[in-house]
Amino acid sequence: MVETLQQFASDNYAGICPEALRAMEDANRGSAQAYGDDPWTQRAAEAFRAAFQADCELFFVFNGTAANSLALASLCQSYESIIAADIAHVETDECGAPEFFSNGAKILVARTENGKLTPAAIRGFALGRTDIHFPRPRAVTITQPTETGQVYSLEEIRAIAAACRELGLKLHMDGARFANAVDSLGCTPAEMTWRAGVDVLSFGGTKNGMAVGEAVIFFDRGLAEGFDYRCKQAGQLASKMRFLSAPWAVMLETGAWLAHAAHANRSARHFAGQVAGLPGIEILFPVEANAVFLKMPAEVTAGLRARGWSFYTFIGDSARFMFAWDADRGRIDTLAADLRALAQDAAG
Ligand SMILES: *Cc1c(COP(=O)(O)O)cnc(C)c1O
Repeated sequence: MVETLQQFASDNYAGICPEALRAMEDANRGSAQAYGDDPWTQRAAEAFRAAFQADCELFFVFNGTAANSLALASLCQSYESIIAADIAHVETDECGAPEFFSNGAKILVARTENGKLTPAAIRGFALGRTDIHFPRPRAVTITQPTETGQVYSLEEIRAIAAACRELGLKLHMDGARFANAVDSLGCTPAEMTWRAGVDVLSFGGTKNGMAVGEAVIFFDRGLAEGFDYRCKQAGQLASKMRFLSAPWAVMLETGAWLAHAAHANRSARHFAGQVAGLPGIEILFPVEANAVFLKMPAEVTAGLRARGWSFYTFIGDSARFMFAWDADRGRIDTLAADLRALAQDAAG
């Protein structure tokens, strides 16, 4: 039996959104060519090119770790390095996959506020050591929105991209929650990526409401050379590709990708509004996407768990609440009410 009470521990706890599920059902009527030579994959590729207003090259892989690590591996040689923020998923949550798939490229970790890289941090790494003993920086990866729910502004992305150009670095964006960032900034996908200077994007479908699947999008087609082989070698070439691509086609064509992200972001803002100002409770980061991080007394944390709530506490000793496409307003209000009661008790 599936857990029926909704939890906000992760946006990956959510099920499949209706649009994605219907697309899989539609793709399931009969047989089709394998390995991406099917009409659904063609349709999804066209939907991406329309959404990004670009003649981009794209690939479908199973998850975000594969999207990020294969994208980064394609940008650098084994003796080169990748500049990332200290709390970047590629550094802390991918089990060394970027290093593994690049045959040893090193991740250079910059200490950051809120997981945001800056041109100064990038310059520091790129210009600090230029001798043969140091793994030459070749790529930069930024997470949009960051792991703590901050969104880089277009100006910030452009400034990072300009520094990358100047220093001969390629720019990758980890967009596991790309849709949430697009909703948050109210810009177009093109503005946030190639028009701002992003070379390669990992676009997350799973946290957006799909069962599985992320897209790797190359705005510079030259960088995609051999990427199909890289996917196959890494075990990331789906033979029944249409079940990865069909949901993308429908999500993009109907606008569901953005509507679902908007709902998730709205839900996070609503929750933050409900708990702001409670005694002893602090909202740790500005709520700019679908995450809310709360610092709270240990007895409140324990009390919430005792009342059956699940959540992670892996960043900065705070409790993380994530809101997905299906976040339920009543359930959010129940969580907020429990938190209020516990906070008031703790405050005496
Ligand atoms: C969830 C997530 C990913 C992808 O994780 P997988 O479990 O490999 O799909 C990548 N980057 C960030 C920032 C994430 O939050």
